[in-house]
Amino acid sequence: MKILLVEDDRQVGSATKQALTDFGYAVNWVQDGPSAVETVTTEFYDLILLDVGLPKQDGFAVLKNIRAQKNPVPVIFLTARDGVEDKIHGLDLGADDYLVKPFSLEELKARMRVVVRRHHGVKESKLTTSDMSLNLATKEIEREGCQYPLSAKEFSVLHTLMLTPGVIFSKEQLEDSTYGWNEEVASNAIEVIIHGIRKKMGKETILNVRGLGWMVRK
Ligand code: CA
Repeated sequence: MKILLVEDDRQVGSATKQALTDFGYAVNWVQDGPSAVETVTTEFYDLILLDVGLPKQDGFAVLKNIRAQKNPVPVIFLTARDGVEDKIHGLDLGADDYLVKPFSLEELKARMRVVVRRHHGVKESKLTTSDMSLNLATKEIEREGCQYPLSAKEFSVLHTLMLTPGVIFSKEQLEDSTYGWNEEVASNAIEVIIHGIRKKMGKETILNVRGLGWMVRK
């Protein structure tokens, strides 16, 4: 899952990015309004975490711009202000949720799951296919009655594949949804992650479609 973090406070930004990367999300971090608008215009994101007080263009203006482009990406505002008017203004502009700083990273992750789930019209924090079930809160996966712990990157790849089972993802697409801008990506990184998942859970877990990429069964 690919997240855009828009936050000009270096401490909050770096702690949030680290925690989300460690969990298994790909995080791109920008620190002002115009940079946020620019990357949202050219790249796909599953979710945006948007600070309200930003240099050059505030979070409200950024969200207005994103919605004016008819982009329905879920947005959670992060803000130091807890005024009711700000909250209403943010939600009226089309934000999906609102979190007041300082927030706990566990609460942030829980709110993120809820917002993304709602966006996809899913009731539980679980992705299910014919033979697997991925718990989005604990990162545990179940296949044929067995549970397996996943590393952050294994979780990330399976999360992407299981959001749309039956759809083939290329290596470039999986790299994009698994790694943030400044993470080093070895040329065979995705192959290594998929090899690890198959070794642990069985060869049939992820299907290779020669020349095109990988998918999981519906
Ligand atoms: Ca700020």
